[in-house]
Amino acid sequence: MRFDIITIFPQLFDSFLDASLIKKAADKKISHFKVHNLRDWAFDKHKKADDRPFGGGAGMILKPEPLFKAIKAIRCKNKKTNTKVVLLAPAGRPFNQHMAKNWLKNDQIILICGRYEGVDARVEKIIDEKISIGPYVLSGGEVAAMVVMEAVVRLVPGYMGNPASLNEETFEQDLYEYPQYTRPESLKVAGKNYTVPKVLLSGDHQKIIVWRQKHRRKI
Ligand code: SAM
Repeated sequence: MRFDIITIFPQLFDSFLDASLIKKAADKKISHFKVHNLRDWAFDKHKKADDRPFGGGAGMILKPEPLFKAIKAIRCKNKKTNTKVVLLAPAGRPFNQHMAKNWLKNDQIILICGRYEGVDARVEKIIDEKISIGPYVLSGGEVAAMVVMEAVVRLVPGYMGNPASLNEETFEQDLYEYPQYTRPESLKVAGKNYTVPKVLLSGDHQKIIVWRQKHRRKI
């Protein structure tokens, strides 16, 4: 699976792509990530990717031509490649775990990060989906792109050391995950004692399965 990100702030992705399991996924070639600077497709000598809105108003809008050109250039030319072009926007369809799983069928996902007051509305004619990561307005689509990438990549076979851990995660079977504990068994904070449920220390796997199932709340 391959992710292509179009942004005017490519440097925002440096540490995200250079750490943790995302980096491992790239190193192991489980997923590929490429960040593209939208300004590379700007045609004037100042590499201007934005302009004032027609009709007036505050802020700037990302111009359509660089985005049209970028998408055309980045889209895999192989007809068999299943490419999805996604515009990140607060007014988009709310992203969720079900969608993250569904996107696994794509070979290439192109993520367009808006900035300022957003992107020229004509860009919506050439995208497949407009996605929001929540009912609030961010300054740019970069953090939203990181959110959707991380949600999808961790489901790609080979990404998780122990894929079984995905089966009992929150949202599986419309349930939340059960409470998890680690050492120490007993913890004293401000005179109060916090202990781990005894069954988890019992070594009785059958009882542990039953306890965990009982403590998965319905969504
Ligand atoms: N003027 C736009 C509006 O009212 O809908 C908001 C533009 S926002 C300041 C700039 C960019 O941030 C958007 O084009 C989009 O790419 C991104 N963005 C902001 N909030 C987002 C969200 N909740 N989900 C996904 N992308 C978001």
